Amino acid sequence: MSTQAAAGGVPTTAAPAAPDPRPQLVERDGQVLLAGGRCRACRYPTRYVVPRCPVCGEESDPADMGPGGTVFSATVLRIAVPGRRPPMVLAYVDVDDGPRILAHVDHGDQAPAPWARVRLIGQTPAGDPLVREEPAAASPAGPRGAS
Ligand SMILES: [Zn+2]
Repeated sequence: MSTQAAAGGVPTTAAPAAPDPRPQLVERDGQVLLAGGRCRACRYPTRYVVPRCPVCGEESDPADMGPGGTVFSATVLRIAVPGRRPPMVLAYVDVDDGPRILAHVDHGDQAPAPWARVRLIGQTPAGDPLVREEPAAASPAGPRGAS
């Protein structure tokens, strides 16, 4: 009995694939949602399903969140990054009732303003979470006229 080597004589010992660190999305009823986690005790939301809540240490359950969110901050990258084509608009998005995630913005080459409303729409070709800005006039219950 002999061990087989791949063509070229190099043994094929595949390294275990590292888990993708990016937030994972799911599609339910036509909506794209963040497949995160939520603490059973204190309701703290996490980007992933974690065994224990990072705040109180209790158990956490899978929870879908979104699809809406609010831009915390955003920027435009105009440098080349392997596998991605500049310009890229990136934003930290506070997912509704969920955690803050880093997402690409389907927004040309302009960064959306802080507090802009966005919606999860899927992933970029490279697998990054993708959001799109919502029309501005869609908040009848918003705090207008505060001045
Ligand atoms: Zn907790």
